[in-house]
Amino acid sequence: MIYLKTEVDGVEREIEIYYDEIFTRCFKCGKELPVDREMIIGMLKDGCSFADTSFSCLVHLVPND
Ligand SMILES: [Zn+2]
Repeated sequence: MIYLKTEVDGVEREIEIYYDEIFTRCFKCGKELPVDREMIIGMLKDGCSFADTSFSCLVHLVPND
């Protein structure tokens, strides 16, 4: 099991992570987007951090170089 370890109301919690429950927001419009397996694999292969990676919706898609 992979989980998030966080504190809620002063109590440490372990929250299980499932692929269909991972989301982000478009960095331009704030639209909620599901994060799929390929997006996570791409981030890990590129050495990106979860906090510093930005995604965009299809409307605001920025082509890769
Ligand atoms: Zn957007």
